[in-house]
Amino acid sequence: MTFDVAAVRADFPILAREVNGKPLVYLDNGASAQKPNVVIDAINTAYAHEYANVHRGLHYLSNVATEKYEGVRGIIARFLGASDENTIVLNSGTTEGINTVAYGWAMENMTAGDEIILSVMEHHANIVPWHFLRERMGVKLVWVDVDSNGDLDPQKVLDAMTPRTKLIAITHLSNVLGTVVDVKTICHAARERGIATMIDGSQAAVHMPVNVEDLGCDFYPITGHKLYGPSGSGAIYIRAERMAEMRPFLGGGDMIREVHKDHVIYNDAPMKFEAGTPGIVQTIGLGVALEYMMGLGMDNIAAHERTLRDYARARLDGLNWLNVQGTSADKAAIFSFTLDGAAHAHDISTVLDKKGVAVRAGQHCTGPLMDHLGLSATCRASFAMYNTEAEVDALVDALELCHKLFA
Ligand code: PLP
Repeated sequence: MTFDVAAVRADFPILAREVNGKPLVYLDNGASAQKPNVVIDAINTAYAHEYANVHRGLHYLSNVATEKYEGVRGIIARFLGASDENTIVLNSGTTEGINTVAYGWAMENMTAGDEIILSVMEHHANIVPWHFLRERMGVKLVWVDVDSNGDLDPQKVLDAMTPRTKLIAITHLSNVLGTVVDVKTICHAARERGIATMIDGSQAAVHMPVNVEDLGCDFYPITGHKLYGPSGSGAIYIRAERMAEMRPFLGGGDMIREVHKDHVIYNDAPMKFEAGTPGIVQTIGLGVALEYMMGLGMDNIAAHERTLRDYARARLDGLNWLNVQGTSADKAAIFSFTLDGAAHAHDISTVLDKKGVAVRAGQHCTGPLMDHLGLSATCRASFAMYNTEAEVDALVDALELCHKLFA
């Protein structure tokens, strides 16, 4: 099957709109992706015809909603290559997933002086929960740098392991540099030493096929809104052996089987880690989004995005006043850049917006990476499966205007 980008674009109604009198060129997919009609329709149907709370009712609508909601667990397992759907904990996104690892696993299995290895290109969602543990328990954060291309040498991570290393928490794909990390090498080496691995899949899962069992990781969180699904949806894969080492950290309804004045009995995993009324419709929408992506084929999506990346790289390389951060050979189609001269990233993004081109400007929730690069902010153009070479041209035209204005 070939990838028909025009047909895919037609599935996303927002892509047909104009912004500031210009056709929308949406290049802020790293922050959040747009939604196809199938997801929008599924949300409408769920609210208009099939809505009730899940797991609780013995009435028709509750059963329909529960069946649809619970069906998503299996879809996510298939999407991530997990053979047992009970390794999937449903949640609101990666931030919740990583906090679940911090409070549910790390707090139970680490003590003062134990070490967590992080790379400098982590998103704050994969930094701040570990700072909580540093502040509260005295665990030590060990940082590994990226090289001048933005690549992370797996050997550097292995070299950072000590007898006190209990966890490696590293992104699969940088949201700023686009670097893809060889997490398989890291996870397999860590596993041999009994060290847990938490691989942040927020960005990778949307750009390439992922198989968590092949990667050999213990924890793999994903976030629905970057996967063409609704915000407030997500999941984390947790290898069964690690799940058995965890205690629930969010308490409430659904995660509990019995509650008494003097004791409680938890539900079985994975529901033990899912407290309260979940994002029912959001999760149903996520299931539809993942089916949509799998229907197109993750290999086809990845191939289209590689072509787009190569074209964008060639065009941006032609702008000798543009400084692109992250030059890894096999990076994703994510380009963070600054312009020679004094123009601030916010000014650049404002000019681009006037041309209908939506990018993100700022730190991208990566303070340590910005420190490492010696930058206070960048602009980021992050491409998705529905973007085209014509949109790369539109970006370049708008950047040339910036150069004229600010040079
Ligand atoms: N990790 C990475 C690499 C991200 O890019 C993001 C979102 O930008 C997150 C984690 C946090 O995801 P969320 O805000 O959906 O929980």
